[in-house]
Amino acid sequence: MGILFTRIWRLFNHQEHKVIIVGLDNAGKTTILYQLGYLDTYSVLSEGHEDAGSPMSRWYSVFVIVVVDSTDRERISVTKEELYKMLAHEDLKKAGLLIFANKQDVKDCMTVAEISQFLKLTSVKDHQWHIQACCALTGEGLCQGLEWMMSRLKIR
Ligand code: GDP
Repeated sequence: MGILFTRIWRLFNHQEHKVIIVGLDNAGKTTILYQLGYLDTYSVLSEGHEDAGSPMSRWYSVFVIVVVDSTDRERISVTKEELYKMLAHEDLKKAGLLIFANKQDVKDCMTVAEISQFLKLTSVKDHQWHIQACCALTGEGLCQGLEWMMSRLKIR
């Protein structure tokens, strides 16, 4: 399964498609990258910094993956605030939005419906978005999330 993730992942991170992974600390970003076979987390981050001065429009598709810790009810409002700030950014106005509702294996965690409601996702009209339940520890749900991104890829 790791190989499949890696293949899909590589498709995105070539010169015309860009994927940015964000989320609060402890949300599961590193674990997801590990599952994707992309162990070198810092190269993803530094790639973003390197290109920070050039317009994102040079990429054909831009996706933002927001990783949410579904057990963290206290900080979902912080995620919401950051999410809307990010979506308003000029460079991300055409970005697709994939939300991974992570840690679904934990009892009494927030469901996808609850997180959607907290984040007011139905009010997001100017970005294509998708929310996907997942468990980064086992990898469950990650492939479905990436498949959604694939289905939205603009190919020349
Ligand atoms: P990051 O700060 O966003 O990079 O978060 P990490 O990937 O380091 O994960 C933070 C903690 O959450 C670690 O202890 C992970 O093992 C744990 N974790 C990540 N994903 C899951 C998950 O799906 N389920 C559970 N139960 N724990 C998870």
